[in-house]
Amino acid sequence: MEKKLFTDCHIVDVVNRSVFTGSILVENGIIQEVGSDVSAEQAEVISLGGSYVMPGLFNCHTHMCLPPDPAVNFNRNDCQITMLALNHLQQYLKTGVTFIRDVGGVNFIDIDIRNAGKKGQISAPDMQVSGKCICMTGGHGWQMAREADGPDDCRKAAREQLRAGADWIKVMGTGGVMTEGVEPGSPQLDEEELRAAITEGHKAGAKSCTHSQGMTGIKNALRAGVDSIEHGFYMDDWCFDWMKEHNVFYVPTLAAMYWIKTNGTSAGIPESAVRKVNAAFEDHLNTFRNAYQAGVKIVLGTDAGTPFNPHDKTAYEIILMTEAGMDIWDALRAGTILAAEMCGVEKTHGSIECGKKANLAVFSKNPIDCPETVMDCQMTVLGGNIVYQA
Ligand SMILES: [Zn+2]
Repeated sequence: MEKKLFTDCHIVDVVNRSVFTGSILVENGIIQEVGSDVSAEQAEVISLGGSYVMPGLFNCHTHMCLPPDPAVNFNRNDCQITMLALNHLQQYLKTGVTFIRDVGGVNFIDIDIRNAGKKGQISAPDMQVSGKCICMTGGHGWQMAREADGPDDCRKAAREQLRAGADWIKVMGTGGVMTEGVEPGSPQLDEEELRAAITEGHKAGAKSCTHSQGMTGIKNALRAGVDSIEHGFYMDDWCFDWMKEHNVFYVPTLAAMYWIKTNGTSAGIPESAVRKVNAAFEDHLNTFRNAYQAGVKIVLGTDAGTPFNPHDKTAYEIILMTEAGMDIWDALRAGTILAAEMCGVEKTHGSIECGKKANLAVFSKNPIDCPETVMDCQMTVLGGNIVYQA
């Protein structure tokens, strides 16, 4: 039995929206006690010098197989991709991220990596993965996706991902920014195709997320039963009402558009991608604000692996969401307890509570007064083990 007491710290309670002084007793990787009066008997004492302890962060929209190159490079072999992915996972751990949902892998490398992580063969955040995205022929991301046309083929494509071990089914409801020749506003897989893939996932207990930017594709995906909208540039009250009624989450990935807009064509980003982002940038922020006001559940994801959108800046999404008008508590909850709820792991992850896995991110300042502190992780704890220390 291994006991550790993390003490001399402030605990950020994202469930009750409070910060209190206390200690965390961890036994065999699980939080046993949280409070100001925790006994340290037979425990290894780890003093945190007055730091602030958050639940480990989630990034619910990653592409661990892709580096943040200015333009997508599809010429890497599987070994090169695997080495990149393993390096990206270390970047997550160094920045307080202890859980990722990867939504678009290459050649099922994401699934092998998840399995190796589960077995303890590699040091990695906890994760859920989607295998290959499912898109229409020539649709968004087709170079690394499983192209499928018609409901029967979409059903088969979903079954292939499930056979490989996917936790989520990722379907492309519209065009996107980084694929030449497709537009964010154009619907792609149609409602019946989306429904076939999504239903097949649900039968096997796998949720579905959709890359969808334009409103028609978003509505197709919602009616088809999708569980999370990724990016979501254009949504109206009908979308928000549906999402609240059917517990559909919104992962806006503000960072993806921000990094493309900020770096631009002079940094080597294709002109078409910059044009598409500039055209939708303000509308996307407005949709984010409207969704927030409407009470849609918003979850943190960055789309890391898109241009200049690195795997070690997950927390920047918190900054962007607060700059766009979100309350800091809601932004922290988007990256912790709400993310856990979306992934269906809220009983074991997402907050510092008894019985949950001891995944922790330690910061020097109080994130409520000083949100920027989340960009400067001091220590990451994964299952009770210190996996990073500044
Ligand atoms: Zn993505």
